[in-house]
Amino acid sequence: MTFSSLGLSDVLVRAVQDAGYTEPTPIQTQAIPAIINGGDLLAGAQTGTGKTAGFLLPILERLARTPTDHGKIRVLVLTPTRELAAQVEESVRVYGKYSDVKSMVMFGGVSINPQIKALKSRIDILVATPGRLLDHASQKTVDLSHIDTLVLDEADRMLDMGFIHDIKKVLALLPEKRQNLLFSATFSDDIKALADRLLDNPALIEV
Ligand code: AMP
Repeated sequence: MTFSSLGLSDVLVRAVQDAGYTEPTPIQTQAIPAIINGGDLLAGAQTGTGKTAGFLLPILERLARTPTDHGKIRVLVLTPTRELAAQVEESVRVYGKYSDVKSMVMFGGVSINPQIKALKSRIDILVATPGRLLDHASQKTVDLSHIDTLVLDEADRMLDMGFIHDIKKVLALLPEKRQNLLFSATFSDDIKALADRLLDNPALIEV
C-alpha cells in the first residue's frame, strides 16, 4: 500500500516522504480513504498508531480539493490537553509543508490577546482545547460559522477530564452540516453515547 494509492496528492506524498514514512500504518490505510470520502468516522486507536496523520492527511487533501477564499476556519480539531493540541498543530505544519494551508493552535493558561490577534488572519485548521475555544466564542473573537469538519481527538481523555459539557457547548455553535471524526483509545458507555449523538452512519475502524 502507498500513500498515493490511498488518494493523497503529490504535495502530501512528498511531505510524508520527507517525514521518513515509507508506507501507511494500518489506521492510515483505513482512515485516509474513508475521510476523503466525506463520511463520519469512529476510530479506536491508541497513540503511536499514526492516528494524527490518519486524520490530518485526508483533511489536507479535502481542503486542497475544495479551495475557498473566505479565509474562515474550516476544520476544528479538539484535544484534551495543550500538549496534544500543540503536537497536532505541529503535525499540520509537517504534513502541510507543500500545501497552501494555515493553522493555529489555541489553549488556555496563556494570554488571550495574542490569540485574538492571530484569529484575525486567515486560518484553515484550528486546533484547540475546549475551554479556551469557548472563551473566544463567548467574546465573539472566533468565527465558527464555516467549520465543515470536526475532529475529537482522544475523546475518552476529554470525557475523563470532564469536558463533556464544554464539548456539547462547542457542538451547539457549529454548523449542522459537517463531517465528524471521533478518535478514542477506549469505548466506555459515555463515549458510545457521544458517538451516537455526534456521528451519522460512521465508518468504523479499530486497530
Ligand atoms: P500518532 O499515533 O499520531 O501519535 O503518531 C505516532 C508516531 O508515528 C509519530 O511520531 C509519527 O511521526 C509517526 N508516524 C505516523 N505515521 C507514520 C508512518 N506511516 N510511518 C512511520 N511513522 C509514522
